[in-house]
Amino acid sequence: MNAAKFLSSPVSYRDLFALFATVVALTFSASQPALAEFGDPANKPLYKLPTIFADKNVRVVSDAKLSQAEGKWIVGVVEDAIDFDTKAMALNKEDVLKKGFCVAILSTPYLTKKLHSELGGETLELDLIEVCQETYEKDKERFAVVVAHEMTHALVYRMFGTLNPRLLGWSRPWDEGFAQTNENRFALAMHKKSYPAGHIKIRQGDRLLTADDAVWLFKQEKLVAIKKGYELNEKDQQRWAGVVYPLGRELIEFIRVNLNGHGYPDAVAKISQVVAEMGKSHRKFDVVFQEKFGIDYPSVQRQFIDHLRKTQNNMALRFKNSIFTP
Ligand SMILES: [Zn+2]
Repeated sequence: MNAAKFLSSPVSYRDLFALFATVVALTFSASQPALAEFGDPANKPLYKLPTIFADKNVRVVSDAKLSQAEGKWIVGVVEDAIDFDTKAMALNKEDVLKKGFCVAILSTPYLTKKLHSELGGETLELDLIEVCQETYEKDKERFAVVVAHEMTHALVYRMFGTLNPRLLGWSRPWDEGFAQTNENRFALAMHKKSYPAGHIKIRQGDRLLTADDAVWLFKQEKLVAIKKGYELNEKDQQRWAGVVYPLGRELIEFIRVNLNGHGYPDAVAKISQVVAEMGKSHRKFDVVFQEKFGIDYPSVQRQFIDHLRKTQNNMALRFKNSIFTP
């Protein structure tokens, strides 16, 4: 994780991160052009790249030489991701697919020189996802999981439509935590052989995360919700980048397994309903969250922090009954 990953937030298209991106671009890389962003004119040529394969919902394009058979396989992966994510999020697939998806498999030179984007994957528009060709070539399972992750972002942003999710309090930890929740569950469901015990092994760095990290993250999360620009110094950028993903996914798993002592097994669908309701009513995250879960968000944060504190030296207990294992 690094500052650039933070900057390449898929929703940096809206004004929230634009200022920050500009500040950092000027501070750290004055000679470099700005990063590709949501709604960036640089994304438009992607739609015009050669179509490798298409079905009625998905069109795979690429600047690389991919065969039709590969294109067909990729379309299948995208369809699996749509199926899985819409089910997990309890969305109506027909509604979702009123507009299809374009998935661009981009070579490293295209990504780095034309889009100035990072390797991996990114949701560039409500109907446009890019994944690095290198990711596809190197590890087909990883590629599918990246697609499921980006598809979650795309489905979430579609529910927000033209609204700025960040200003409504749908923060980056929620965004990435939710996308990671779906990618992990997709991996467990689709690639059973790779996970014989049915769990995702936590990473070494996850063990180091503390209650204080969560306190700090929630403080930043609040700032993001109320400030237009979001300036962090370099040290804090690194801390942010290191905790956004793991604490985001652990918070959601905590809600599913532990919250209020019993957990909410349907947490993923419920969170999706929170997003849908925010998109419809333009109301803030904490208001809608309380309505759907019957508990106020600050209490959830307090319970989560408490859980992290009590399990600092006992990872087995921290992740008991969850999809994660130490
Ligand atoms: Zn993401």
